[in-house]
Amino acid sequence: MGRILMRLPYRAYKKRRIEKLRICHEPGCGKEFYGPPIAKYCDFHRDIRNRVRKRKKISDPSVENMLFDHSFREVIEIEFTCPVIGCGRKFIIKIYPKQLIYPKFCEEHRSAYRRRITEVNYHPLKGVACN
Ligand SMILES: [Zn+2]
Ligand SMILES: [Zn+2]
Repeated sequence: MGRILMRLPYRAYKKRRIEKLRICHEPGCGKEFYGPPIAKYCDFHRDIRNRVRKRKKISDPSVENMLFDHSFREVIEIEFTCPVIGCGRKFIIKIYPKQLIYPKFCEEHRSAYRRRITEVNYHPLKGVACN
């Protein structure tokens, strides 16, 4: 009996230490609340239904892809030239009706890493240094 009474003040102390004044992470809320360090949201926004869903970032089509405006009604194949400096490889792309966004680079250069390697190795006088 005596032991239980002894432990109560300690627990109350510990709780006070852990709970900190926090600010809700929900954009546009900014409400202050008391909670453990891992708490990110106020009482209202702790319920996921009250939070704005994060939308996936739509990558800029001009970086990885190109806009190819056309009015073809059948699937056709068109030859493009890779715009990476030092590549200039030709590649075939299937053009589909109503689809306007297509890869901009040859198969080799669809990763930013590969594009950088080719551009770094390119020498304007010697030409393509890699491959
Ligand atoms: Zn909130
Ligand atoms: Zn290329």
